[in-house]
Amino acid sequence: MDTLSLDVLFLGHLDCQYFRIVDGCDQQKMYQSPVSALLIRHPRLGNVLYDTGNSPFSSWEYGRHINEVYPVGSFVSIEQALALHGLRCSDIDTLVLSHLHFDHVGGLRYFCGTKAIKNIIVAKSELERACVSAMTHEENSAYVKSLFDVEGACYKTIDKTLELAPDLTLFVQQAHTPGVIGLVLKTARGTIIATSDAVYTKETWETGTPPGGAINTGTEAFRKNLERLKVMQAQYGATMLFGHDKAQIEEWCRMGTIS
Ligand SMILES: [Zn+2]
Repeated sequence: MDTLSLDVLFLGHLDCQYFRIVDGCDQQKMYQSPVSALLIRHPRLGNVLYDTGNSPFSSWEYGRHINEVYPVGSFVSIEQALALHGLRCSDIDTLVLSHLHFDHVGGLRYFCGTKAIKNIIVAKSELERACVSAMTHEENSAYVKSLFDVEGACYKTIDKTLELAPDLTLFVQQAHTPGVIGLVLKTARGTIIATSDAVYTKETWETGTPPGGAINTGTEAFRKNLERLKVMQAQYGATMLFGHDKAQIEEWCRMGTIS
């Protein structure tokens, strides 16, 4: 194998009001927001995992606000999801955390004692934001210290972009949070850009409607980042992969390995 392969791992879902995904819609409308991770098997880098899903202890570990607004509706652990692909947590070489919100970093503790826990890539601005939020006991925060401050965790921070390999580049987006890492993946089937939560869904992408609720950095940051992504998409002729798009994540999981 001399090209990378990609699998979308399904890790359950959060139940939330749809206006938190697409602002301005009926507040009664609910949405099953899928939680996912990406497994990249790379000829030179080994196994790279992008995100880790929820904590198995969400009901008590997440606190009241998150459990009211984004309760975990179903849960698949990152350990179970990797096992479906014949891998254990100890087989992961590098962890990339798109950002440090609970539904992306909640599975980090499964990697305690493995090589990956010493090799976690995150945006510097995101780590700073998460630490300040946690240590000031910020109200209604989506950062939970016990999820990202796990035993042995060693973060490597990036500021803007990092080319891990010619076919795998990380880039930092300042939308949704101060530092959401996106991916540019060059596969044999074409370039894929993974946005994580900087763009939640295809509807967000197509209509340019920002998310609602208080979890995001702001509409201006969202729009600026969307413009940047549109330029990147055109430049690479890329297929976009969004952070919480139910239809897309189901479809890509059904598709199986992309290589
Ligand atoms: Zn998320």
